[in-house]
Amino acid sequence: MFKLPEVPQSIFSKMSFLSTENNAINLSQGFPDFDVDSKLVDIIKATSSKKVHQYCPMSGLPELLKETSTLVKNAYGRNLNPEKEILITAGATQGIFTTIQALVAPGDEVLILDPSYDCYCMPITLSQGIPIRIPLNHEFLPDWELISQSITNKTKLIITNNPHNPSGRIWTKDDMQTLAKILKRWPQLYHLSDEVYEHITFEKVHLSANLFTALHEKTVVVSSFGKSFHITGWKVGYVVAPEIIMDEIKKVHQYLVFTVNSVSQHALAAYLKNENVKALGSFYQKKRDLFRDGLSKSRFDLLPCEGTYFQLASFKKISTLNDVDFCQELVTKHKVAAIPVSVFCDHEDKNHVVRFCFAKEDKTLINATKVLCKI
Ligand code: PMP
Ligand code: GLN
Repeated sequence: MFKLPEVPQSIFSKMSFLSTENNAINLSQGFPDFDVDSKLVDIIKATSSKKVHQYCPMSGLPELLKETSTLVKNAYGRNLNPEKEILITAGATQGIFTTIQALVAPGDEVLILDPSYDCYCMPITLSQGIPIRIPLNHEFLPDWELISQSITNKTKLIITNNPHNPSGRIWTKDDMQTLAKILKRWPQLYHLSDEVYEHITFEKVHLSANLFTALHEKTVVVSSFGKSFHITGWKVGYVVAPEIIMDEIKKVHQYLVFTVNSVSQHALAAYLKNENVKALGSFYQKKRDLFRDGLSKSRFDLLPCEGTYFQLASFKKISTLNDVDFCQELVTKHKVAAIPVSVFCDHEDKNHVVRFCFAKEDKTLINATKVLCKI
């Protein structure tokens, strides 16, 4: 008997496969289709001819840990000890998996706010913990009453994702302060803050857990260089946590991967010396606006998008199909791939909403909106 007979193939693999098979425009899986910064390409070329091909230290290349601490300091004013409070991971995915394995014991309950990204549940189940899935409210923001009612002395961890995939909503200061109060009230409770889209916000600023000292002691923040530097394929991210939690996370990390790809770590350390993330929001805001303008004459209704590179759209005026079937029809018949939002929940489609990724070249977005306006 295998351990995970019911775990399906990820929706991202499935939709990208269908997109290629149907020769469609792929607005499903979240990755950029444009070139990466040529400075980064030059750095990786120069780096690969140096002596950078052996294991880095377990928690990360010291230069990259230092540059990462500077990135966090510049963005949020938080001072971190690079050696003790930062861990370089094989993408945010490994940071999340490793943190869950380190913190969640059999029978522990973990709160997840739906719609939620797909890599939270399975590691909880593997740890023999119990995922407690709580819906976000109708605006995709936390329902604190429901969350508070769901916490017991068995609740070990709450996983939050802000800016939020798939909705693109961002949390308010009140949300962050309410969370801090809850963590204070429940001594056994920890917080995993998935902030991979932290630098992709538009009109409003992102309020990271790094900004709130009241959260630091109980919070693990997970970030991704893949999202911030358009290099999702590199699979490099990092985790920030206080030393006492980080020591436990490192115990798992050393046996899961031990250390992350050395060439990428050297290249990122060099790149980060002269690079910052300040322009990322405005870069993606132009794409969001281009995509939204292009769809303004379509029969899709667009939901608010405050951050991330995802746009939710209701297709209620177009079809009565459920979102999974609608996405299947969209990719096979109309040649545009999207993600059905119900797969981020543990129930079937209620809302008739799909997710489009706008991290694409302008011409890709224009071509896609032309098709979508005809549906
Ligand atoms: N969390 C969220 C909310 C995501 O959308 C993603 C996808 N990038 C990840 C985590 C995983 O990030 P990475 O590719 O760095 O593993
Ligand atoms: N995070 C990406 C998304 O939401 C997918 C990454 C993956 O394929 N695992 O589209």
